[in-house]
Amino acid sequence: VIAGVLQDSYRMAFHDELTGLPGRRALNERLMGLDGHYAVAMVDVDHFKLFNDSWGHDVGDQVLKLVASRLRRVGGGGRAYRYGGEEFTIVFPGLRLPEALAHAEALRSDIERYRFELRARRRERRGSDPAQAHSATLTVSIGVAGTSDWLDAPAAVMHAADAALYRAKHGGRNRVAH
Ligand code: GH3
Ligand code: MG
Ligand code: MG
Repeated sequence: VIAGVLQDSYRMAFHDELTGLPGRRALNERLMGLDGHYAVAMVDVDHFKLFNDSWGHDVGDQVLKLVASRLRRVGGGGRAYRYGGEEFTIVFPGLRLPEALAHAEALRSDIERYRFELRARRRERRGSDPAQAHSATLTVSIGVAGTSDWLDAPAAVMHAADAALYRAKHGGRNRVAH
């Protein structure tokens, strides 16, 4: 039983069942296997807790799937991973920071314009038709970092991307920072 449970959590770390994206363990392996320069983007859905609170967790799950489907289409050879919760990581092998920033900005703007078609009622709105379709918008904040002379270890690049994400959040969200 224990072996089975371990095997399951191992598989889930490699592949995220909800979004279909590779998981954090796959990300770590990818980062370890990279040589030459590359860039990393940390993507975090803005105010997702509010979204869950007003639409419900199941609708939140639908949204994460839809966000993942947008991330999968990112340009620049970027590969998306589910880092955990409502956070995603994109690895851009071979890209320098300016190119990665441009692709991250295109992604941010794509998500801002995208209309998420959701099939569920709003929790607080009693009496509304449960099967009614709603359309919602949402935004993401993105932090980007690229390898450089002083930033070459994967953990350091990830850390820099995370610090940039923090700046994007504190700069007002729905933006890309580096
Ligand atoms: P911020 O703009 O600062 O990122 O605010 P936020 O609300 O997105 O951030 P916070 O970290 O407070 O909340 C993240 C929420 O994401 C809380 C949690 O309930 C939700 N969440 C994480 N994983 C999942 C998931 O798999 N499904 C759903 N539906 N919600 C999730
Ligand atoms: Mg978060
Ligand atoms: Mg968030």
